[in-house]
Amino acid sequence: MKIQDLKIGLGTWKSPIDKAGAAVEFALREAEYNHIDCAAIYRNEKEIGEAFKNVFNSGARKREEVFITSKLWNTEHARDHVLPACKQTLADLQLEYLDLYLMHWGIATVPSDDNAQNIHGRYEEKLNADGFLITEKIPIRETWEAMEELVKAGLVKAIGVSNFTAPMIVDLLSYANIKPAMNQIELHPYLQQTALVEFCRYNDIAVTAYSPQGSPGNYGKAKGLPVLGEDPIIVEIAKHHSKSPTQIMLRWAIQRNTIPIPKSLNPEHLKENIDVFDFELSFDNMQKIAGLDRGLRFVNPSDWWKIPYFG
Ligand code: NAP
Repeated sequence: MKIQDLKIGLGTWKSPIDKAGAAVEFALREAEYNHIDCAAIYRNEKEIGEAFKNVFNSGARKREEVFITSKLWNTEHARDHVLPACKQTLADLQLEYLDLYLMHWGIATVPSDDNAQNIHGRYEEKLNADGFLITEKIPIRETWEAMEELVKAGLVKAIGVSNFTAPMIVDLLSYANIKPAMNQIELHPYLQQTALVEFCRYNDIAVTAYSPQGSPGNYGKAKGLPVLGEDPIIVEIAKHHSKSPTQIMLRWAIQRNTIPIPKSLNPEHLKENIDVFDFELSFDNMQKIAGLDRGLRFVNPSDWWKIPYFG
């Protein structure tokens, strides 16, 4: 599988360890997915690795038919951490290579003590007494150069970034010997980031759309935030096509040449989310959805790091 051929994938963030493997296995065996998005920090790679082993060893799918992404976590940015982190992910996923390895965030952090949760209930990073993220003095360049070595060693086919803004990409391109193949960013009708998507395209960087329906399981009504699947325009377009609101959002993402990676554990949703290739949104409907942009970011580290990462 080549990056240029990717249309849609399966996300695995917050897929719990007792369900993540089953969802991946169902997606590969029963729903014809060919792209799975993983990350070390999702802490479910071992369980997903069992699913890969079952699927590939049974001959149900061939390894080379499936595009598998994982991500380097922020605590592993130091030059001598990158190779062990990648090897750990490969061991957990029971793979010989990754198709794509992303720098999860352009920020280096120290791990929390003894795996303890911080005041936000997160164990991924350590905060100081005032609640500010404690960062490490490691430039992105050091991390990127170590990731380039992974390509040379044949452990990963391509490398890329996630949550990178345009200035971060400009800086990276000034020294990268291997250009980033991908930028994975939050994208949905309420956060369209059209200028960043176009900037990436201009620089031959593919764009993955994470939280393509606004991550309703993590945000949405319970947190006083809007649910995209209830937006009247999206609902109206869905009715017109006899499709679900989610399918309209995924189709919109595909037609703007981004690669949505909806997460689901539900077999019905898994099938529904890939059933988006038998219809097309008209120019008018694409325009209507373009008009919904309101710059609403759900995954915003300002909330838990006190670092205005995206301004
Ligand atoms: P999402 O895919 O926008 O939404 C997932 C939620 O939607 C789940 O609660 C899921 O519940 C529900 N859902 C899925 N299909 C549905 C359907 N057809 N109808 C109704 N509800 C449906 O959110 P996300 O998980 O935040 O983002 C997707 C993936 O992007 C992640 O899993 C992860 O792989 C990646 N991501 C990356 C980053 C990063 O920093 N790089 C950040 C966030 C996310 P069910 O399980 O019940 O279907």
